[in-house]
Amino acid sequence: MELRNFIDGKFIDSLSKKNIPVLNPANQKIVGNIDEALDGEIDLAFKAAKRAFDKRILVDMDAKDKSNMMRAIAQKLRERKEEGGKLLSQENGKTIKQCIDEFKGAADTFDFYAGLTDKIENKLIPSGHDTLNYVVLEPFGVALQIVPWNYPVSIFSGMVAQNWIVGNTIVIKPPELCPISSNFYGQIFKDVGVPDGIINIVHGYGETTGRKLVQHSGSDYIVFTGSPEVASEILKETADRIIPTHFELGGKSAAIIYPDADIDKAVDSTVKGIFKPNAGQICVAMSRVIVHPKIKDEYMTKLVAKTQKLKIGAGDEDGTEVTPLISTDQMQRVSNYVKSGIQSGATLTIGGDKAERDDGNFYQPTIFDNVKVDATIAQEEIFGPVTSVFDFEDEEEAINIANSTKYGLASGVFTSDDQKAKWTADRIQAGIIWQNDWFVDGNNLPGGGYKRSGYGRDGGVDGVYSHGQTKRISKRLY
Ligand code: NAD
Repeated sequence: MELRNFIDGKFIDSLSKKNIPVLNPANQKIVGNIDEALDGEIDLAFKAAKRAFDKRILVDMDAKDKSNMMRAIAQKLRERKEEGGKLLSQENGKTIKQCIDEFKGAADTFDFYAGLTDKIENKLIPSGHDTLNYVVLEPFGVALQIVPWNYPVSIFSGMVAQNWIVGNTIVIKPPELCPISSNFYGQIFKDVGVPDGIINIVHGYGETTGRKLVQHSGSDYIVFTGSPEVASEILKETADRIIPTHFELGGKSAAIIYPDADIDKAVDSTVKGIFKPNAGQICVAMSRVIVHPKIKDEYMTKLVAKTQKLKIGAGDEDGTEVTPLISTDQMQRVSNYVKSGIQSGATLTIGGDKAERDDGNFYQPTIFDNVKVDATIAQEEIFGPVTSVFDFEDEEEAINIANSTKYGLASGVFTSDDQKAKWTADRIQAGIIWQNDWFVDGNNLPGGGYKRSGYGRDGGVDGVYSHGQTKRISKRLY
């Protein structure tokens, strides 16, 4: 497997002579050592991206050619999904099936945007008989893109495909905890003959390479998916340059379960929403459940029964449903939050400890009941298999609890009454509201944050407009 940085159309030998060991979260064994990009590599990457932008390679590329290039990438991602999925599972910990699906999903994303290259429309604005005003979508220039570790292959595809449609060239940093699978992209870009410089992949730790990339004057735009703390640092670092940013950040997503809900569906959605995909290490995890007392006993009994049966295991073990946490640091973080939950007086209904295995970062699916709305576990993103349950008296109280955090990424409402669902959805401050399920998603659907969960939209046509700027051209005809 290729372990070097991909710059200006080729994998280059390390200039920094440093590398990063990548560990398998299921057994702490080294998966590989990836080259660390420091100043030399960073300069080369920005220079290559700037040259490609100045040559107008993407802006002037025929829409059909761009579409064919993106479809060819999708095809290669599908061809290599087994190999890529296995490697991603080793470095990221998710099940092999989830990781193969992530490669398939990334291919679908490139295909979806390949279909949009000739469908992004500009505006003509009428204003009298002697003038013509039109507004066109234009790129920002060189986009610095920074990716988190939980879905590195799919987030990469979304960022790149949308930015290429608009015409931004890219310097992208995959996450240091699972970077190797992103190098499949470099190999695929070479195989497909992607023009040099329109994408450059550089690896490194956040505090070193990430910070240097942000501080470098070579970017005109920053696309960041990750924690609000780092987003805030990016804003401070770039304040003097006043460059646009696009932030997809954390969440503390709540489901409201009304008494007329289908309880089995709500239970299945909770298990799926907080425990199964990536052990709760997902920005839109159902980390809070606000449930009406009338149905709470039945909901809790069924939820606990299902949770008890979940199989904790490594990504390559048969039947695994709850995979390891990404790192020992993440284990510590989750353990600390659970301790703080106990100290806050919440009832620990199930879980609350490391799983009984002596290998890897395995944590038990954990449910807290009777949680105070202002408790730390109710307010902060834990990013693990831990959810908090609250009661509510009336709809207003449910909304107040749902909106009580600084976050606003996703939310859900479970009810058989469409009118109540709409009333609720209208009042929840979040960029995505699901009704009677969790994870109703697709490449054609836009999503993004309210409040501390970020700004800018990804997905669908909105995602494309969200990665560019408009220019108005006003012409006097006579
Ligand atoms: P993180 O913020 O620690 O790291 C994200 C990326 O930023 C990594 O590549 C890291 O190397 C880099 N980075 C870290 N410090 C940096 C710095 N000072 N300057 C520049 N880059 C730096 O987040 P994480 O732990 O990788 O991911 C988890 C977070 O991401 C959670 O908050 C989660 O909710 C969020 N997330 C959001 C979405 C979304 O779509 N909204 C999707 C996935 C993850």
